[in-house]
Amino acid sequence: MSCTVDLPVPGRVLAVGAHPDDVEFGCGATLAKWADAGAAVHLVVCTDGSKGSWDPDEDLDALVRRREEEQRRAVEVLGAQDVEFLRAPDGELDATRDLVAALCGVIRRLRPDVVLAHDPWRAYRLHPDHHAAGLLAVRAVVAAREWHAHPGQPHGPHRPGVLLLFEAGRPDHVERVHDHLDRKVEALLCHRSQWRSTMGIGDRPDEQRARFVRRVHDDAQAAGLRAGVRAAEAFRRMTDC
Ligand SMILES: [Zn+2]
Repeated sequence: MSCTVDLPVPGRVLAVGAHPDDVEFGCGATLAKWADAGAAVHLVVCTDGSKGSWDPDEDLDALVRRREEEQRRAVEVLGAQDVEFLRAPDGELDATRDLVAALCGVIRRLRPDVVLAHDPWRAYRLHPDHHAAGLLAVRAVVAAREWHAHPGQPHGPHRPGVLLLFEAGRPDHVERVHDHLDRKVEALLCHRSQWRSTMGIGDRPDEQRARFVRRVHDDAQAAGLRAGVRAAEAFRRMTDC
């Protein structure tokens, strides 16, 4: 399959993730690259992240607040503008009409040139929220362009030029990110509450953190091989939005 490399830098970008940290894993370096080049980058996080702890005695309200705070710090590291939280219960996300309407409203207000989201069609994906968040984003992109969908919204229809799906089952586009991998790592490490569960950083933090950084670099190198570039994030590119 042929693979395209690097979109022109978009003016406005919206990245949609299921949980705090998903956008950073999927496309953090690309967002940092575009933000540095002048793009206005916005994030939406669909769930409240309330299942993101292995501590049975965790105060879940405090965890939600902490994860939103971590996400806001990561947004600053990426050089993005802001993040909005849809606050659906973690682990129970569905692409419901209400959530589609909410995300459709965000797309119409922000008018992004590029939308980035989980690939909802990736086979054998375990986490249902990632599937649902991808589906939610796709449905919201389609609704946002239709004049007769959610007609009571204050902003008129909008059609993004490109949809980039991360965690893609069959990627066909890469963004070169060699110079922005450090920012991706720094943004990911803002999610301190997830160090143990998703980044494997626990009882031997120095060693495990170094291993995590290596993993991010190795993944980017593997993605880059697809197009013969040094380091990349890979996507499925859709232009019939
Ligand atoms: Zn996730």
